[in-house]
Amino acid sequence: MKPLNPIVAACPPSGIRRFFDIAATMEGVISLGVGEPDYVTPWHVREAGIYALEQGYTTYTSNAGLPQLRQAIVSDLSQRYAVSFDFATECLITSGVSQGLDLVMRTLLDAGDEVIIPEPCYVAYGPCVTFAGGTPVYVPSSPTFELLIDEIERAITPRTKAILVSSPSNPTGAIQPASLLAELAELAVRHDLYLVSDEIYERLSYDAPHTCLASLPGARDRTVVLGGFSKAHAMTGWRVGYICAPAPILELAGRIHQYTMLCAPHVSQAAALEGLRSGESQVTEMVADYDRRRRVFVKGLNEIGLTCHEPQGAFYAFPSIRSTGLSSEAFAERLLEAERVAVVPGSVFGPSGEGHIRCSYATALPLLDEAVKRMGRFISALAT
Ligand code: PLP
Repeated sequence: MKPLNPIVAACPPSGIRRFFDIAATMEGVISLGVGEPDYVTPWHVREAGIYALEQGYTTYTSNAGLPQLRQAIVSDLSQRYAVSFDFATECLITSGVSQGLDLVMRTLLDAGDEVIIPEPCYVAYGPCVTFAGGTPVYVPSSPTFELLIDEIERAITPRTKAILVSSPSNPTGAIQPASLLAELAELAVRHDLYLVSDEIYERLSYDAPHTCLASLPGARDRTVVLGGFSKAHAMTGWRVGYICAPAPILELAGRIHQYTMLCAPHVSQAAALEGLRSGESQVTEMVADYDRRRRVFVKGLNEIGLTCHEPQGAFYAFPSIRSTGLSSEAFAERLLEAERVAVVPGSVFGPSGEGHIRCSYATALPLLDEAVKRMGRFISALAT
């Protein structure tokens, strides 16, 4: 048999999946490994999906997605972040941010182009760049997970095409201060680079208001904003996201989408529209609940000696495990074996993730309390 695509074959399977698979074979595991809300999609949103089925909305939509949904998305972005996109030419509905990332990379990159990615970062970023024929160039962030603009600038070469950032961040929960994002935008203008901004966690910003990268001076015409419904609307399984970007970028992304996906699922788009039009109170409630869990969980981690920089957004804590002397991989494996708590080793998110573990606090408070208790017992046992 002839060899399969070597670029894909060289990309290892996701380190997160590996831990899920082990945890799934065990009983009594508390999983802090999943990056997914523990809420079911709000009932009125599910009802909108059911109604769409009843009405026979089982067809394709237009390639770009339901116009009403695109209108609602651009109007929401305009109201909350004072950034304006034309729904007809600058907004495309995708099957989640995952598909949006893939489309954008294939739209922007020529073979060998480089994309700078501050890390620790979401595990799909590097592979999406690689599959599009590009080269990911990882740049570490500060110990408090802020962008290091000078390091980013030093990594720029004549092949650099874009910088890919995400705030709030998976895995660290960090939110980049608006002033740093403004410096990033200024850097992109100076070096004529595109910015790709994964804002899937924008609604989950607890301490500081979210800054949409495209709203910053100079950024609008070179920034691709990726957003979606999976997290704040608890709609992971529906697969709805969007790309908002300048028309020339979106026109090409739409061309790939037209041939490879046709459109995002019709029923899911109808449900997402309901979520956006009438789901504000549920989103606010869920966000308030994540915030409560965040405060309790992070306090608990610090009390058992796992120093945790306060995460300001998303639903992840990224505590340091350096005090234990274990690698993040060994820590996660041994914690799972000894105490049945599943976390993700920080190393899967990039070299500077080593020395940390990622814990999702999208988990009920009693389970978070129990997880902290078990982790505390694990750490005490290591010390004896
Ligand atoms: N971007 C980030 C930072 C994520 O954490 C995730 C999912 O965990 C995604 C994108 C994928 O989201 P979606 O469900 O919209 O494909």
